[in-house]
Amino acid sequence: MNLPVAVPRQRKPDWIRVKAPTSNGYAETRKLMRSLNLATVCEEAACPNIGECWTKKHATVMILGDTCTRACAFCNVKTGMPRAVDPLEPEHVATAAAELGLEHIVVTSVDRDDLPDGGASQFVKVIQALRRNTPSTTIEILTPDFRNKSEAAVEAIVEAGPDVYNHNLETVPRLYPTIRPGARYYASLRLLESVKRHDPAIFTKSGVMVGLGEQRLEVHQVMDDMRSANVDFLTMGQYLQPTPRHAKVEEFVTPQAFDAYAAIARAKGFLLVAASPLTRSSYHAGDDFKKMQANRAAKLERGHSVERVGG
Ligand code: SF4
Repeated sequence: MNLPVAVPRQRKPDWIRVKAPTSNGYAETRKLMRSLNLATVCEEAACPNIGECWTKKHATVMILGDTCTRACAFCNVKTGMPRAVDPLEPEHVATAAAELGLEHIVVTSVDRDDLPDGGASQFVKVIQALRRNTPSTTIEILTPDFRNKSEAAVEAIVEAGPDVYNHNLETVPRLYPTIRPGARYYASLRLLESVKRHDPAIFTKSGVMVGLGEQRLEVHQVMDDMRSANVDFLTMGQYLQPTPRHAKVEEFVTPQAFDAYAAIARAKGFLLVAASPLTRSSYHAGDDFKKMQANRAAKLERGHSVERVGG
């Protein structure tokens, strides 16, 4: 008889360790999300920052249920046949934003390849509910790639007017077949480019995980691709293996190597770069949104000064 072989968990370096979540703020955030029947990517993706973020009552809501139609090798979200879309979800998201007192909310979703619009209309309803109920909350959405229906999806969502549109490239193109098998690198890149085409004023954002076996120059190429799609904000963080069934960590990238990536990215012209082992798409998203606004204003001002000097 073959006994199952236990796969040893990889020991994390000191710079990855995080405290267990125990604060009152954490408990209150958890209770609110449960009472509103809302899923969060913080919990479903086993995010290492949950203690810090939920203590500050920053949670990233995951709409369209908690079950994804894809099965990416890096992601902890449950896979299967999702339930019907909850019509109360948009109002529940708005209630959560109001009760948590959020100045900035990040809303993401599972992939819903089973829905005719990929779930785009639910993003629109959530944005509308937030604008109605908490008009001063700025809105960041982190969408899937809306496979084969991205043009209509992007058009409808951008029309609804979020402040930031995020879509993560996740990894370098060479690793897509193993890490993100249901997705196409260039389709994701085109989605980002089309967001800017529909609304040049919207802030766009994208992220990659490192430590999956990518080469440094491949990461630089991804940065160039993002810049060619006019992406404003790059996030980079260390991939962590959520369970032994997921892709293994090939490398723990050092904080110094993250700093080097950040310096290269800034030189390539991103408005903002967040790169550290624990950076995640939605980590410190509110503060970073303000920085992005300030950086754009400063850049425009510099442009006007050059024009004035040039006459
Ligand atoms: S970094 Fe994002 S996903 Fe992680 S706990 Fe914070 S808000 Fe949630």
